[in-house]
Amino acid sequence: MAKSLFVCQICGAEHRKWAGQCPDCREWNSMTEQVIESTIRVGKASKSMATTAIPDIAMHKTERRSTGINELNRVLGGGLLSGFAIIRA
Ligand SMILES: [Zn+2]
Repeated sequence: MAKSLFVCQICGAEHRKWAGQCPDCREWNSMTEQVIESTIRVGKASKSMATTAIPDIAMHKTERRSTGINELNRVLGGGLLSGFAIIRA
């Protein structure tokens, strides 16, 4: 989130609020607004990441192997997938 800071061009004093006269050096109309960017750049990081369209993943055909137990096949969504692991707690 960006926030504004007002910096006096004469003495370099920084203030949260704009003032017609710098409270430090008493110069008039010397304060200019500066936008301070947040150090966390979420937008840039996410843009550089590789993306895969959801249909490419969801529509990928997978072969299911029957477990030999109909009830278990049904629970697994049709059988075991290659590389599939079941962790029993
Ligand atoms: Zn000043």
